[in-house]
Amino acid sequence: MFGIDCEVFWHITDYCDQECSYCPPRYRGGLVTRSTEEYIAVIEKIQASKYQFADKIKWNLSGGEALALDDIHRILRTMKERESFIKIETSGGNSWFDYMAIQDYIDQITLTYHHWQNPSVVNYIIDFCQTNNKIIKIKVPYYPGKVKEQIAIIEDLTSQGIYAHGFSLHVDARHGNKLIDGYSQGEINLMNGLAEDWTPPPPPPPVPVDPNAPDPNWKDPNIPPSPTEKQSLGRECYAGMDYMYISHKGYANGSDCGGRTLGNVFDTEWQPVSTSFDCPMFWCHSSNDKKKIRIINK
Ligand code: SF4
Repeated sequence: MFGIDCEVFWHITDYCDQECSYCPPRYRGGLVTRSTEEYIAVIEKIQASKYQFADKIKWNLSGGEALALDDIHRILRTMKERESFIKIETSGGNSWFDYMAIQDYIDQITLTYHHWQNPSVVNYIIDFCQTNNKIIKIKVPYYPGKVKEQIAIIEDLTSQGIYAHGFSLHVDARHGNKLIDGYSQGEINLMNGLAEDWTPPPPPPPVPVDPNAPDPNWKDPNIPPSPTEKQSLGRECYAGMDYMYISHKGYANGSDCGGRTLGNVFDTEWQPVSTSFDCPMFWCHSSNDKKKIRIINK
């Protein structure tokens, strides 16, 4: 026993066959370009490396839609052959059979309950998780014209002891907060936890924007995140070992900070990193990195 678990967060595909108009194309606009054998080869390389120093791999899988991969059950089975915890984010598929094929491999599901989803599929997954002691969380994308009925669904799920929450849909949340078209003011109120007939106060007068003003979100990497923070330059960092992120296209990173890029996992010569390295950054800004990665003073 090493006393260490490591995490692999993998956007396993950017393909989805559902075509939800509100889903940003980067999450659904791709193709399945990798074979199941390529996925399995990557998993086996990661396993061969990580189980040399860790007891368990926590696979955290997101898409696209993972269930749209024909052989997702083989991919998951390979992960589950060794000590692991598999967490998946999915819409649950089109019929019970989609989820049945993978349910035994999944330890935690975050189910996206779309307005078009067949409730009997959702109910099946809830039943399965509750009777088999699996963790289930449900998130509901609010769809214009259906917000009230979706809030009722969330309340019903919550009353069953299921963690469920809704979220409003944006044109592209990465690039601002503009809601998609079609919500009524009443729905916007409800989504914000207000009474449906709440009336917004008149907007404040516009503040002139200085086009040369610095980006308020920019963080100077040379300034410590807090006055007591120790400089991280030269500390022994386990980015890439304790944690690794893999993008839709297979590009891997060892941390949020970008201090350790790991190449493309689908390259035939690719190998996971198997040693720690010296931090090349002055300050470790990401709380995720600090939580997930061993960073040791030399
Ligand atoms: S900034 Fe933090 S996570 Fe990034 S390399 Fe340095 S110690 Fe590691």
